[in-house]
Amino acid sequence: MAGYTHLNEDRKGVLVDITKCIGCRSCQVACKNWNNLPAEKTSFTNDWTNPPKTSATTWTRVAFRLIEENNGGIKWRFVKNQCFHCEEPACESACFVHAFIKLADGPVVYKPNICVGCRYCMLACPFGVPAYEWDKAFPEVKKCTFCADRQKEGLGPACVSTCPTGALKFGVRKELLEEAKQRIAASPGKYQPTVYGEKEYGGTSWLYISDVPFEQMGFKTNVSERSIPSYTWSVLKWTPYIAVGWTAALTALYLYTKRRAEVEEDH
Ligand code: SF4
Ligand code: SF4
Ligand code: SF4
Repeated sequence: MAGYTHLNEDRKGVLVDITKCIGCRSCQVACKNWNNLPAEKTSFTNDWTNPPKTSATTWTRVAFRLIEENNGGIKWRFVKNQCFHCEEPACESACFVHAFIKLADGPVVYKPNICVGCRYCMLACPFGVPAYEWDKAFPEVKKCTFCADRQKEGLGPACVSTCPTGALKFGVRKELLEEAKQRIAASPGKYQPTVYGEKEYGGTSWLYISDVPFEQMGFKTNVSERSIPSYTWSVLKWTPYIAVGWTAALTALYLYTKRRAEVEEDH
């Protein structure tokens, strides 16, 4: 963790147990309620996931997956998706003005007042999470905040608090990781042997265990265990001249954004 020495030992995480999720979408609704997010016009797809994708107004959604079993049968499985709150986030490292910040307690949060709208965060995120408000005159980047506002008050995320089955558990990441491994060990043959998020792209705050292979649940698998920023750290130390050029360009963008905010305020 060369660049992330500020993280607290007891930083938070969420353990998602896919075997316990019943697809009720209470978490989806709780997120909308807490964050005052409007409903969006949607469409049915042939897998019942609704809406089909996360967006600037839907920061989490429950994917419905019809899984074919080895004996020829089929079964439904459901999985809640949102920002993973990576341990070493690519969105943060791609943002030259530091509009994305990995907080010491775990959440990766966004500061709209300093965002210049370059959208590199969207390109950098390996999970395709950040969404842009394309329909707004003064757009922002939107994604799950890990309910950093609630965490500051000692509360858990709204989505976790509402889950009726215990499929979501909020706590200290390292303790949840241990618990995940214990659950796997305690029920031989029930779970897949790995915890998704322990190592993927350097590890994530949201951890998943599942009885069906993660790729069948729509997860990116066989991905690097190195974080994306760790690649750029080794490159950036050789590119001071590029950095100088970027600084000039981004200063111009920053001034533009500042002016844009002033105009918005006047209106
Ligand atoms: S999942 Fe994407 S948006 Fe979320 S912290 Fe990781 S890189 Fe950033
Ligand atoms: S942590 Fe908060 S912002 Fe993120 S999905 Fe849950 S309710 Fe929504
Ligand atoms: S509230 Fe819990 S059980 Fe319901 S869809 Fe969300 S994670 Fe699954």
